[in-house]
Amino acid sequence: MANEIYAQYHAYLKKIKDLNGATALLHWDNEVNAPKNGSAFRAQQLATLSGIAHELSTGSELKELLDALWEKKEELTAEQLRNVELSRSDYARATKVPTEFVKNMTKARAASFQAWLKARKENDFQIFKEPLKALIALKREEAELKGYEDHPYDALLEEYEKGARVKDLDVLFKDVREQLVAFAKELREKGQATDSAFLSKKYDKDAQWDLGLKLLKQMGYDFDSGRQDVSAHPFTTTFSPTDVRVTTRIDEHNPMSMIGSCIHEGGHALYEQGLLDENYGLPLGSADSLGIHESQSRLWENNVGLSQVYWEANWSELSSTFSEQLEGVSVEHFYKAINQVKPNLIRIEADELHYHLHVLVRYELEKGLMEGSIEVDDLEEMWNAKYKEFLGVDVPSAAKGVLQDVHWSEGLVGYFPTYSLGSFYAAQFFAKASEEIDNLEELIRKGETQPLLNWLREKIHYHGRRYNASELCVEITGEPLNLSYFMDYVRAKYGAIYGL
Ligand SMILES: [Zn+2]
Repeated sequence: MANEIYAQYHAYLKKIKDLNGATALLHWDNEVNAPKNGSAFRAQQLATLSGIAHELSTGSELKELLDALWEKKEELTAEQLRNVELSRSDYARATKVPTEFVKNMTKARAASFQAWLKARKENDFQIFKEPLKALIALKREEAELKGYEDHPYDALLEEYEKGARVKDLDVLFKDVREQLVAFAKELREKGQATDSAFLSKKYDKDAQWDLGLKLLKQMGYDFDSGRQDVSAHPFTTTFSPTDVRVTTRIDEHNPMSMIGSCIHEGGHALYEQGLLDENYGLPLGSADSLGIHESQSRLWENNVGLSQVYWEANWSELSSTFSEQLEGVSVEHFYKAINQVKPNLIRIEADELHYHLHVLVRYELEKGLMEGSIEVDDLEEMWNAKYKEFLGVDVPSAAKGVLQDVHWSEGLVGYFPTYSLGSFYAAQFFAKASEEIDNLEELIRKGETQPLLNWLREKIHYHGRRYNASELCVEITGEPLNLSYFMDYVRAKYGAIYGL
């Protein structure tokens, strides 16, 4: 009996997943292929499809199935029970916010996004201020509607990183503030570790494209279950585990932009390709949190892709493809050049160390806005002061400062911390993988990354949402997330590069 209801429940979730897959495909097409006049109707089609999916996710039929399964929960297998538990919590969360509120939020987001575009173009935070105030007020209301125990920001974090709490993030970011800020400063004061001018020579577009495909293939990305295209902003999108697509961008005077984005998106895609087909539509068939997703991209991009052994494996390919540009450059020189630490203003252009100082600024500001200790009126001034304090830079303009990211204008509050969580999880996971896989470094030096992928599949990908991120971390590494693994990693790596 329970099995029959369970089959109905799974069929119901598959329908929602089908709609989401179609939505994702339309979105992908919009970014990659669509003619420019198509965008208005396309937006309408996307809204219609996601509206139907939302209705299904919050519909009474789903509630009845979940209630019926809950009554018979003793008859369910552990895996079935876990799916039902997660679906019940998803359902409760999705139905906590009244339709009227969702409509108001949609309107406020559209207004603040338009204001943000204009403010950034005119380099004037004043234009964004009032719409942002309205949006933050709604985010506070949303936190109250969704509920929390200790801190209103927890209610928003839950959206992206189930189980993440301010009390834990405060510990983590206090360590960032005390340890990473000082270490980054020490490196900045050393100046340039090596000359990297050769990285801005001209690198042919087609040759870069071919190299990107080879690197993706080498890391285990399955081109029979995906493809790569070009888009303005690289991204990964999933229609099913057997069709996971990536995009990249190519800058002829910065080959590391393409290389970094290929490996990064490849890491996201390997995770999605590693979800189990039989769990399609179910919570266990979905990726865990944004932080865990980002841990997969960052592990490949930084721990693997910015290591010397990785470039030793790929040096003959790279140096023969770009023999003119890399004339007289050794693999050691190349490795140092791609790992330069520089103070900078823009988050998305930051090195792997300063990146987290950018996130630290946003974390402290968002948390303050949500608890009411910071007002939107003071945001620009506080932003600039924190950039001076943590990164040692003067912010010359609002466009290069508080207006640089789209997130707040779209109501994405609580999202930024997941970027740092990704790198910190990656460091902790990679340390464990190095312990558990014999000669991992040597394998990577030979271009053999399959054992690493197998490890990630087994420890992370196959589980989907079985554990929340912090549980998963304990499950894999035996301890909760902490900054020490990331600090050990950057101290060893940059200490050697900068001769500390
Ligand atoms: Zn990413």
